[in-house]
Amino acid sequence: MTLAHDTINDLPVAQPEREALAEPLPDMPFSDRVESLPEALSIYINQLVYDLKRRGHDIVSLSLGEAFFDIPLFDFKKLDINKSYHYSDSRGIPELRGKIAGYYKHHYDAPLDAASELLITAGSKPAIFMAMQATLNPGDEVLIHEPAWLSYPEQARLVGAEPRFIPYDTPVSDFGDHIGPQTRMVVINNPNNPAGRIYSRDELLTLYTLCRQRGIYILVDEAYSDFVIDDPFTSMASLVPNKDGIIVVNSLSKNMGMSGWRVGYAIGSPPLIDRMLKLNQHIITCAPSILLYYLAQYFDQITAITLPQVRDVVEKRQRVAQMVDEAGLTRLDGSSTFYFFVSLDDFPGSSLDFSLLMLLNKGIAVVPGLAYGDSTSRFIRMSIGTESEERIRQSILIMKDAITAGTFDRPALRAKLESYGLAEFSPGADSEAP
Ligand code: PLP
Repeated sequence: MTLAHDTINDLPVAQPEREALAEPLPDMPFSDRVESLPEALSIYINQLVYDLKRRGHDIVSLSLGEAFFDIPLFDFKKLDINKSYHYSDSRGIPELRGKIAGYYKHHYDAPLDAASELLITAGSKPAIFMAMQATLNPGDEVLIHEPAWLSYPEQARLVGAEPRFIPYDTPVSDFGDHIGPQTRMVVINNPNNPAGRIYSRDELLTLYTLCRQRGIYILVDEAYSDFVIDDPFTSMASLVPNKDGIIVVNSLSKNMGMSGWRVGYAIGSPPLIDRMLKLNQHIITCAPSILLYYLAQYFDQITAITLPQVRDVVEKRQRVAQMVDEAGLTRLDGSSTFYFFVSLDDFPGSSLDFSLLMLLNKGIAVVPGLAYGDSTSRFIRMSIGTESEERIRQSILIMKDAITAGTFDRPALRAKLESYGLAEFSPGADSEAP
């Protein structure tokens, strides 16, 4: 066999020879799709928080998308370690699928065939991406109800579809006004991050009737399904027992406080799950086997420990709701999750200005509402999952003062950002500058 080059060093553009070339080489290209992906605004803010904390600043973190639970470590030695080191079933190991199916049946009265209607993957993010990839074609439109979690529109774009948005104050009964000939999917997050809104059984039924007859999928992200304590919660999987035309995604990240384990799942009709399975096989293979075996073994013990903590968080939210209301801040209606979506009313700057003002001048981190859609750009998201009620109370009062002050010094704010050596937010090529 004759090789064109004897060794890798003989390749025409091998690294050592680059400097020797007379003409500089052009930059290597990247995909247009990825180049137009905006930086996630929530991650930008959290990155600033990490940077400031590293410099010794005390920051009240109301920007994190998590609640922290106390979860003991159960014994890994009881697992079959030989099986755990290797690839496992691409649908997710049957033992854990059985546990999740039992959970949906017991908690949400949703019948689930663990063999054919469930796919476990590495978090609900890939589950949403695979659901879109399995159902949409280039040019199809995805309708997303605002406030819209950041990754829905970007994932829709990544599969070549076009996201369209339904303003937050549109009742579900009017969603039909937004459906066009290219609409192929509607996405809702029930309960909703960031408002804490719960979609009622009637609303879900209205939506299903509207979409199914037009061949439009409904993707319901139920990532915060356990953060509902006094109000009724209806899973889309219980409303549509044969899962025809629906996709439900969920994960252990929020409900069990295990975001770092990257275990999530999709529920759908067998033909849809089969198609998503092909994607899972090519992209992920399987979620980490050892974690799946661990979760199957200790699922009941973990939920017995985490569910009371979920309840504590929602009760804390109820007390904080009272603080927000007593301070005279306006917020979107909602009783679930650990978030509040608070209006900036007459604050003279953008929601990014407000977030930077709070972070750099007051040491309070919140996420600009701009991240959740145009109709919500005059809001900020406040997460109460990780801070003490006293620090949250003080922060609410500081925010109220800033909102009503009627003025702020934008140039001074930007100068402060620069003096700390912190980056400005850089939206993607397609997105409007805030
Ligand atoms: N869906 C919503 C609404 C979320 O807020 C998040 C995380 O913030 C996710 C999904 C992602 O969850 P996972 O960790 O399962 O990928």
